[in-house]
Amino acid sequence: MVHRTMPRRTLETLTFDNSYARLPGAFYAKLNPAPFATPPYLVSFNPAAAELIDLDPEQAKRPEFAGLFSGSMLVPGMEPLAMLYSGHQFGVYVPQLGDGRAILLGEVRNDRGEKWDLHLKGAGLTPFSREGDGRAVLRSTIREYLCSEAMHGLGIPTTRALCLVGSDDKVYREQIETGAMLVRMAPSHVRFGSFEILYYRKQHEQLRVLADYVIAHHFPHLVESLDKYARFFSEVVERTAKLIAQWQAVGWAHGVMNTDNMSIHGITLDYGPFGFIDDYDPGFICNHSDHNGRYAFNQQPYIGLWNLSCLAQALLPLAQKEELKAALDRYASLCEGRYMELMRAKFGLIETKEEDASLIQDFLALMQLHKVDYTNLFRALGRFETGSVTPNELLREFFLDRESFDKWARRYESRLREEGSRDEDRLVRMNRVNPKYVLRNYLAQTAIEKAQQKDFSEIDRLLTLLQNPYSDQPGMDAYAAPPPNWGKHVSVSCSS
Ligand code: AMP
Ligand code: MG
Repeated sequence: MVHRTMPRRTLETLTFDNSYARLPGAFYAKLNPAPFATPPYLVSFNPAAAELIDLDPEQAKRPEFAGLFSGSMLVPGMEPLAMLYSGHQFGVYVPQLGDGRAILLGEVRNDRGEKWDLHLKGAGLTPFSREGDGRAVLRSTIREYLCSEAMHGLGIPTTRALCLVGSDDKVYREQIETGAMLVRMAPSHVRFGSFEILYYRKQHEQLRVLADYVIAHHFPHLVESLDKYARFFSEVVERTAKLIAQWQAVGWAHGVMNTDNMSIHGITLDYGPFGFIDDYDPGFICNHSDHNGRYAFNQQPYIGLWNLSCLAQALLPLAQKEELKAALDRYASLCEGRYMELMRAKFGLIETKEEDASLIQDFLALMQLHKVDYTNLFRALGRFETGSVTPNELLREFFLDRESFDKWARRYESRLREEGSRDEDRLVRMNRVNPKYVLRNYLAQTAIEKAQQKDFSEIDRLLTLLQNPYSDQPGMDAYAAPPPNWGKHVSVSCSS
């Protein structure tokens, strides 16, 4: 008997709604996407995201698919709009931002009752484009497409990516590039800045409308609470703290943690100049426009708190200051606590001991001193052997000064023995939390350069690989390699 397990919606039966479009006009500008001037073509399609909206992956083969997801056709129920928000950019309040090059097409509800926003990035000018051209380039959409799926594969909350549509339209950046559109999916695209703009414009009634909307749609368990706004904030604090702990544990920097890029769902949002750390450097700055290192890797936990305090400020008209403050006060221990849990797991430790923090810190310090690859060393650490006569040659190889590693290894070994750790079991556990493959900049760059020559195969190869980053994939070892010399200096800025 054939079981029908595949999603089954077609482009005709994919039903759209747009609850955001029913909110007051102060929250958005309604407008249609502006299609490319040249014929669009499908660059990549992600069946895993299609499944979330019950869309039959076969639909991607239809010639009209690329047109539909690059704005040349609308489906009934779509009510496209650009969302309005503001935000603190590099610490400075910018009174009006908004979707300057993205359009919310509408929402699709799947058979499990989950609502997914479909957002088209690169969809043309909007009233919020300021001096921008409303477009996104192929290069940056490939980065976002691959990284959001890589993060999901790693188990890190994130927006998802349905497909990437390319064109031959010229787009002017530092060089002439081509325009592309990305269909991004999220429970909603409401940001901290969506609240900030209403607060600073003193539209406090609208602020309440937005909070009620968000709570009703996304935090329904709070609807009946008397202190629902404070509780909503408290949940955002919790989710953000845990999200950032995951970024820190995997060695990933966002690059532009402005409050307009912070999701109220605690998911990773707006991929720009992000980067995974190769050689461990806690001060890693992935955004080459970030001259002061405000968004350096090791600043992210503090910036998370700073951004949450901006959101707290915006919620002052709705909740007691003391309640908001109490929620903020929980952030540091939530973030640190989650980080320690994740790090213990990366070291294969089961029990919690006082000395773990220094064991972990000293390992990171060694890694930094010896410029060791973060991802590869953790993956290799799973093979640490307790009680071996020639101890851990594989691991010693990573360090120039092997004796300082040996010294640390003796402490690690005795820590493992204390909890009766067995090498084989620990390896299995550690391989589940220490990825073999991450989206290193040079891997993305190779896919981009091929795609710019109209060869999209590398995008699909990386997509498949990164959706399973914890499994050894046959023939793919080269993709776990640290960057070659040219790939160490791929410079990424906000202009994308
Ligand atoms: P981002 O750095 O991508 O988060 O963007 C920050 C703000 O600039 C948002 O309001 C974007 O919509 C806007 N923006 C970025 N690039 C463009 C562009 N090419 N055209 C219009 N607006 C843009
Ligand atoms: Mg943004």
